[in-house]
Amino acid sequence: MTKEEIGMDAILESLKKVETRKILAKEDRPSRAEAEDAVRTLMKWVGEDIEREGLVDTPKRVAKAYLELFGGYDLDAEDVLGRTFEEVGGYDDMVLVRDIPFHSHCEHHMVPIIGMAHVAYLPDGRVLGLSKIARTVDIFAKRLQTQENMTAQIAHTITDALEPRGVAVMIEAEHMCMAMRGIKKQGSTTVTTAYTGAFHDNPAEQQNFFSMLRMGKE
Ligand SMILES: [Zn+2]
Repeated sequence: MTKEEIGMDAILESLKKVETRKILAKEDRPSRAEAEDAVRTLMKWVGEDIEREGLVDTPKRVAKAYLELFGGYDLDAEDVLGRTFEEVGGYDDMVLVRDIPFHSHCEHHMVPIIGMAHVAYLPDGRVLGLSKIARTVDIFAKRLQTQENMTAQIAHTITDALEPRGVAVMIEAEHMCMAMRGIKKQGSTTVTTAYTGAFHDNPAEQQNFFSMLRMGKE
């Protein structure tokens, strides 16, 4: 079996593993004008006078802001990761990118999730450009999310693209839907983790991940 075939099998396998979410094609999406009307509707629904001066351009601004805040729907993390392999001369220890800040939106209330992602992998002959990990986090963050799903998506996408010995992802985040409404638990953070490969199978590797995360912080 050639290396290519092995790679292809892994990719096919991964399509079954990773939850693939449908993303609407551009031509199936509403127009900009319809999106702006939807913003006007919500403003009226909460009681605003949408004719007042300060709000005249708000629907336009919100629609524009949404394109940026949810820009992850038009980006493909596998594309970003797929072109970035670099051969390394025998380095096979953990690579950890820690404290990657992100902003996302919870899929239940569409209000912000603000947090940090920590991503580690154990190379198997190849490494990623370091900025690519942060970009991957950003792509998944700029979609409607649950923290659990985002954590798993990052871990599986890097696992599938790089085929490392293992990937560990930890996300710590504050959910504004908890801080601003209902139970108002301000300042509480939610921590999620996802492990693949050696990080999943070997508790000692998880321990290394935790030690490296804490390094220099105590
Ligand atoms: Zn929420």
